[in-house]
Amino acid sequence: MRRSRKVKILATIGPASSDEAMLKKLFEAGADVFRINMSHADHDLMRTLVGRIRKVEKAVGRPIGILADLQGPKLRVGKFANGREALKVGQTFTLDDNPEPGDSTRVFLPHPEILASVEPGHRLLIDDGKLALKAVETDGKRIVCTVVAGTAISDKKGVSLPDTVLPVGALTEKDRKDLDAVLAAGVDWVALSFIQRPEDLAEARKIARGRALLLSKIEKPQAVARLDEIMELSDALMVARGDLGVEMPLEAVPGIQKQITRAARRAGKPVVVATQMLESMISAPVPTRAEVSDVATAVFEGADAVMLSAESAAGAYPVEAVATMSRIAEQVERDPTYAAVINGQRSVPEATGADAISLAAREIAETLKLSAIVTYTASGTTGLRAARERPQVPIIALSPILDTARRLSLLWGTHCVVTEDARDLDDMVNRACRIAIEQDFGEPGDRIIITAGVPLRTPGSTNMLRIAYIGTDGKGGR
Ligand code: PGA
Ligand code: MN
Repeated sequence: MRRSRKVKILATIGPASSDEAMLKKLFEAGADVFRINMSHADHDLMRTLVGRIRKVEKAVGRPIGILADLQGPKLRVGKFANGREALKVGQTFTLDDNPEPGDSTRVFLPHPEILASVEPGHRLLIDDGKLALKAVETDGKRIVCTVVAGTAISDKKGVSLPDTVLPVGALTEKDRKDLDAVLAAGVDWVALSFIQRPEDLAEARKIARGRALLLSKIEKPQAVARLDEIMELSDALMVARGDLGVEMPLEAVPGIQKQITRAARRAGKPVVVATQMLESMISAPVPTRAEVSDVATAVFEGADAVMLSAESAAGAYPVEAVATMSRIAEQVERDPTYAAVINGQRSVPEATGADAISLAAREIAETLKLSAIVTYTASGTTGLRAARERPQVPIIALSPILDTARRLSLLWGTHCVVTEDARDLDDMVNRACRIAIEQDFGEPGDRIIITAGVPLRTPGSTNMLRIAYIGTDGKGGR
């Protein structure tokens, strides 16, 4: 089964989407990668979800990526006896060190260092800023606040403190345990939250030892300021607009989204645009015009993936949300203005064989209107460079390594297929033609372009281009 769009869809899974049948429906509706949010999933649940996704992967016969998102030094309130409480502007509400479930007057804040650092006058922004509190009295063990804006608070909502200086590192104790568990469970990507400095990636990189790739969530002004250095050390980026929009003025976020997307495209690293993309679909079967336009903007910009959070994890319409995102992307990519917008942002190739070949493959494929660019890529690197060109023609990435195919499921315009390394040049051409037909990218009489490295089976040696007719026998003709 092939997608009829280039941009990928990353769907967060949660209570609304954790059984196997629902995961399969989400995949069929268009989800390419599933995100497990470690702020909400314990290790048993995470392992169960990974197992279910792998079963769906087997059933549908397509590689599916799994991204485990570490909580990072995100501060969250505890739970409530009723799950949720209504609040009124002007009332008093207290955050304290009492682990009992909260009520309409107080809740547990499981971060003693915060209870100790907040001072009267500081703002506490909860649930992506939907609830604003102001500290009026503190004694090191509790923060008595006044509700300044907002109407409700519920279990485990995030807390941002724009006025408080906090001594927090990159990986928390919980993150280290979660990281070990998700690596052991075999996830493909690990997302790191609240990255501030390039050094913040070092520890996770060391622990991961190549078992998963690292995605840096850009959600703090400090990270925006050092974007290039952080990107250099990351395998992918996320424009994490939820926390970014709390930590920075909301009106700064669209411009930052463009900067991050463009910088990632230049570097040839996947970039995900996330949060509130179809927010109203949490409770409605159709999105707002503004949300449709927001998804379209990310697609026009050439982002690798667009993400759903609560829409697919906890909303009433998870399948509809994925299907809606997919339809918007397909329509944008068919729009007569799309190619020009994408081409306008193309970067020059770096002086490497892989980049020169990727550029040439795109130009030849577009000039001759070929059916696909087929790239043999063991590690995935050549696939990344091919996608960096943002060709109008689909890319089929062939790898003998299942992990590579799963990782590349996040990558723009790339359809990954696991297949053995080619034995010789004839096999290389025949195999590419056969897979192009099988996967619905071409039929006898069509032409494809193949990139590979000769001698075969030498990683990092992409140095060859071959135009091939798909013969009537499904093999490579002339
Ligand atoms: P979160 O990250 O959903 O884990 O907070 C995304 C964001 O902040 O936008
Ligand atoms: Mn966040």
